[in-house]
Amino acid sequence: MPTDIEIARAATLQPISAIAETIGIPDAALHPYGRHIAKIDHAHIASLEAKPEGRLVLVTAISPTPAGEGKTTTTVGLGDALNRIGKRTVICLREPSLGPCFGMKGGAAGGGKAQVVPMEAINLHFTGDFHAITSAHSLAAALIDNHIYWGNGLDIDLRRIAWRRVVDMNDRALRSITQSLGGVANGFPREDGFDITVASEVMAVFCLARDLADLEERLGRIVVAETRDRKAVTLKDLKATGAMTVLLKDALQPNLVQTLEGSPALIHGGPFANIAHGCNSVIATRTGLRLGEYAVTEAGFGADLGAEKFIDIKCRQTGLSPSAVVIVATVRALKMHGGVEKKALGSENVEALEKGFANLARHVENVRRFGLPVVVAVNHFHADTEAEHAALKALCREKLDVEAITCRHWAEGGAGAEDLARAVVALAESGAPKTPNFVYPEEAKLSDKIRTIAQTLYGAADIQIESKAAAKLAQFEKDGYGRLPVCMAKTQYSFSTDPGLIGAPSGHVVAVRDVRLSAGAGFVVVICGEIMTMPGLPKVPASEGIYLDANGQIEGLF
Ligand code: ADP
Ligand code: MG
Repeated sequence: MPTDIEIARAATLQPISAIAETIGIPDAALHPYGRHIAKIDHAHIASLEAKPEGRLVLVTAISPTPAGEGKTTTTVGLGDALNRIGKRTVICLREPSLGPCFGMKGGAAGGGKAQVVPMEAINLHFTGDFHAITSAHSLAAALIDNHIYWGNGLDIDLRRIAWRRVVDMNDRALRSITQSLGGVANGFPREDGFDITVASEVMAVFCLARDLADLEERLGRIVVAETRDRKAVTLKDLKATGAMTVLLKDALQPNLVQTLEGSPALIHGGPFANIAHGCNSVIATRTGLRLGEYAVTEAGFGADLGAEKFIDIKCRQTGLSPSAVVIVATVRALKMHGGVEKKALGSENVEALEKGFANLARHVENVRRFGLPVVVAVNHFHADTEAEHAALKALCREKLDVEAITCRHWAEGGAGAEDLARAVVALAESGAPKTPNFVYPEEAKLSDKIRTIAQTLYGAADIQIESKAAAKLAQFEKDGYGRLPVCMAKTQYSFSTDPGLIGAPSGHVVAVRDVRLSAGAGFVVVICGEIMTMPGLPKVPASEGIYLDANGQIEGLF
C-alpha cells in the first residue's frame, strides 16, 4: 500500500465549485483558496438558518493506544460510504495543528483511501484560520501588558494574569518564560509562558460560537486576570473584543474541501481535547446538517472524554443531538488493552482480545447512558485475522447486544464501509431521542458534576479535590459560574488518571489537581494529572525528513 501522501497526490481532485454544487452552494457563496479549498460566506451560512437539519452521526472510539484506532479515517470512510449508498452526507472534521506535523509522523486528514484532500495544504497552514486565532490571542496578550504599562487603570494584579501567550508550534522552550526584561521602556517584568494555539480559549470560543455576534460576546466574557482586590478582569473590560472579532471574521467561515471520492467535507476549528472540548466548530456542524441528509463528525480521544464533552458541552450549549454514535475499535488496540506489547501485535491472540474487550464494553455502556443508539466499527488492519474479527463480533453480540461491523475503508475507500453506513442509517432512522441524556444536570454543584462523571463513566470509586482546587470551585460558584458544564482534562489512555491502567479499571480515585475557568467557552476545566498545553518535539523530529522535491512537491510528510 502506498503512503498517505502518495495516495493523496495521485488523486484527481474536482474543482471546489463542483463539490459545492453537489450540496447546493452557489459559486457566489464561495471564497476560494486556490482551486480545491473554499470558505463558505457568512451570508450564505446565515441564509441556511431556516433549512431543516439532517441527522448527526458522532464518531468516537475506545481508549487510544499506541496501536492507533483511526477515528478520522473512519469518519471520512463512513461519509464516503453514506454518499455511496445514496445518503447526501457532509463530513465535519477538526483542522490539524501545525506544530505536531513536525514532531511525530501522522497527519490529521484521515489515512489510506479514506482521506480529505489536498492533504498537504490541510495539514500545513490551510486557510490560515490558526494564524488568525494566534493573532487574536496575541492581540489580547499585548493589550494586557500595554494596559499595565500605561498606568493600569483596571488595577490588574501582575501576579494574577491567567492569559498566557500562544504559538502554533511544538516548542518546549516557551513553556515558561520571563518577559518585559531590558528596562523601563519595556514594561514590568513578569513570568509568563506559551501554549500551543489549539489550547487558546479563543480556539474553544471560536468552535462554540453560533455566529460573529456570539463570538464577540463570548470573547468579552473571557477572564484574563484578577485585580488587586481579586475581581475578574475580562477582555470586555480591556475593550479587546471588537478588534479580535475583526481578526477572526474571515476565519469563522467554514472551509470546504473534498474526500478522495469527492464527498464534501467541512474542516473548521480544532480545540485541544483535554483543556477544551476537542471537536470542530459548531458553525461547521450546523452547516453540514443543513446541507446534507447526514453530517458525520469526530470527537477527540476516547468516548470517555470526546463523546462525553460532545454531549455535555457542545450538545448542551447548542441543542445538537446525534442520531447515532459509532465507536471505532481495532483488534490491535483491544489486544493492547488485553496486555499485549506493541511489537507482538503481528500474531493472532484471541485471548488477549477477549481480555481487552472490557475497554470497548465500558465505552459502549457509557454511550448508552447518553440514550444514544450505538454501533461498533472494527477498523480492519492488515495483520488482523478472521478468528479475531469473529471473536470480537460474537463478544459484542453476546455481551453487549451491539452490532460490530468490520470496515475496510482504509484499504478500499468508501466501498469498504458500506455495511457500516447501512447500520448507521438503520440506527439513525429508527428514532433517536431529540436530546441526549446529559451525564449531570446543569444545576448540580461543580464538584458533584465531576464526581458523577468519574463514578458513572470512569468506574471510579470517588474523586479527591485538592484544597486549592476546591477553594477555586467555591469561588467560581460564588461568582455565578456554578451552572457551567465541566471539561475534564485527564489522560486519554485510561479511564483512570494513570495512563498505565489500560483495559477497564474500576475502584480508582480521580485526583483533581487544579481547576480553571473558561468563561468565554462556557466551561470549567478540571485538571486531573499532568496536562501538557505546549508539546515538545521528539529527538528526531519528522521535520528532518520533510523537503520540497525538484518539482516543488512536498516530500516526507506522512
Ligand atoms: P485518530 O483520528 O483516531 O487519531 P486517524 O484516523 O488519524 O486516527 O489514524 C491514525 C493513523 O492510522 C493514520 O496515519 C492512518 O493512516 C492510520 N490508519 C487508520 N486506519 C488504518 C488501517 N485500517 N490500516 C492501517 N493504517 C490505518
Ligand atoms: Mg483524529
